[in-house]
Amino acid sequence: MNAPENESLDFVRQIVADDQSNGKHAGRVHTRFPPEPNGYLHIGHAKSICLNFGIAEQYGGKCNLRFDDTNPEKEDTEYVEAIKEDIRWLGFDWQDRLFFASDYFDQLYQWAIQLIRGGHAYVCDQTAEEVREYRGGWNKEGRNSPYRERSVEENLDLFERMKQGEFADGEKTLRAKIDMTSANMNLRDPAMYRIRHVHHHRTGDAWCIYPTYDWAHGQSDSMEGITHSICTLEFENHRPLYDWYLDHLGAHHPQQIEFAKLVLSYTVTSKRKLLELVQGDYVDGWDDPRMPTLSGFRRRGFTPESIRQFCNKIGVTKFNSLTDLSLLEQSIREHLNKIAPRVMGVLDPLKVVIENYPEGESEMRNAINNPEDDAAGIRTIPFGRELYIERSDFLEDAPRKFFRLTVGREVRLRYAYFLKCESVVKNDAGEIVELRCTYDPETAGGKAPDGRKVKGTIHWVSAEHAVDAEVRLYEHLFTQENPSDVPEGVDWKELLNPDSLKVLTHCKLEPSLAEAQSGDRFQFERNGYFCVDAQDSTADKLVFNRTVSLKDGWSKAKKKNG
Ligand code: ATP
Ligand code: MG
Repeated sequence: MNAPENESLDFVRQIVADDQSNGKHAGRVHTRFPPEPNGYLHIGHAKSICLNFGIAEQYGGKCNLRFDDTNPEKEDTEYVEAIKEDIRWLGFDWQDRLFFASDYFDQLYQWAIQLIRGGHAYVCDQTAEEVREYRGGWNKEGRNSPYRERSVEENLDLFERMKQGEFADGEKTLRAKIDMTSANMNLRDPAMYRIRHVHHHRTGDAWCIYPTYDWAHGQSDSMEGITHSICTLEFENHRPLYDWYLDHLGAHHPQQIEFAKLVLSYTVTSKRKLLELVQGDYVDGWDDPRMPTLSGFRRRGFTPESIRQFCNKIGVTKFNSLTDLSLLEQSIREHLNKIAPRVMGVLDPLKVVIENYPEGESEMRNAINNPEDDAAGIRTIPFGRELYIERSDFLEDAPRKFFRLTVGREVRLRYAYFLKCESVVKNDAGEIVELRCTYDPETAGGKAPDGRKVKGTIHWVSAEHAVDAEVRLYEHLFTQENPSDVPEGVDWKELLNPDSLKVLTHCKLEPSLAEAQSGDRFQFERNGYFCVDAQDSTADKLVFNRTVSLKDGWSKAKKKNG
């Protein structure tokens, strides 16, 4: 599903393919996706999911879902459930391989004791500040902790008492005894356990010492028999530490492979920042359609297929770069173009009265459901004396090249007749409230028998039959292409786009949309792709989200072809 066969392999797949053909790990391929349940999944995670599950699928292997839940203060079961839902929605299945790092707390504890016994770990009483000071810096060697030479017996005793809850938070840590002078800071006696008297969402109050991410992560991979631990670049210099642990435990070594994170323009994907947007009510929750989260994209109307397609298209590299959001939008457009039924909806309605159309009558017109899909067939839409058209399709003082409506000019109504504007009706404030028009009954097929041409074709809905709807239009969440690149002294939230959401409350849609169900997707001709909002839309009040605008609508294409 994930990578077309004949495409050249990216560097990660190349390593996996080589390992498999060389019989490394007996030819097994076993990957995992290891989210921390401290937020909802975003588009960057989708890249990692597609890579890990995709490789497993492609090489006849397996992919685990493992929650890296070692940080109880920030984690929650709400996130666990949301993450599972999002992965399933993307189209991947971990089958019976759902794991939690917290399942390994016992084994990790036993392994810590093994390292203490071997003289490779010690209990340290330094405060966080002292640890920082002794650690040194990039050009400055660290110094040994005064507690580094404690005896094995003393370490075993203190570690046991740490576990029993004898000490307060921060009073002691268990540290690996590696090398305080290493050029790699990660090897300067890193912490393995911290004391935290807090409740864990799965282990409850069973533990008051928690493994650090670095102590838990590599060992979790090892226990699960992972063959390829695929992670992002910032873990490159953690690899020697993971190797050190596994070497000293004599445990199975996965091959760690690092790739560059996805960074998407006009948005942020740091979970800390996304959480701040949610908690500060800058957006309407994790699934706000402007959020780069999978739940936000889902609510906005993106399809899982198009997100997977995007992830394939961008590939994986070793270099950090900014990926253009429009690439993602293009994938959405391509997919929706194939699957979304076409309908007519007027977002900013202007009333049209056809003076020569008989009062009290109406007729049904045939409309094509999807020109990209013959099987989609046709539907009928009512036409009558009063219509709505898009306000922007009329101009009072229209330039010569304006091919839509103005007084004295003719346009084609999509699937109906030629329409000519005779006059405008204004209110006291001088605003146009209605157009008085005539139609030519001889032009039912979209052509005039006398051969006269019109340049423009506009969409419309019958006023009598229209259904009312609210439509939400979205723009970029941030005004700046790379909002992580914040100027000195500026809060990143100041870069939020104040116009990222526009709510239109008086839209008029063709009557077939009265039946639309939550999540249904459509192309509103000339206006873009839309879906029924899964949260706020009701039978009484339809709410649509614009998924993405339409770049190559039929009106433009027609205009180009003359
Ligand atoms: P944050 O730094 O915002 O907390 P994270 O990377 O720590 O995010 P995790 O839940 O640990 O979030 O991520 C799970 C997996 O997804 C990791 O393997 C990580 O490498 C990968 N991942 C996270 N963000 C991206 C991204 N932007 N592009 C590609 N992969 C990512
Ligand atoms: Mg992480």
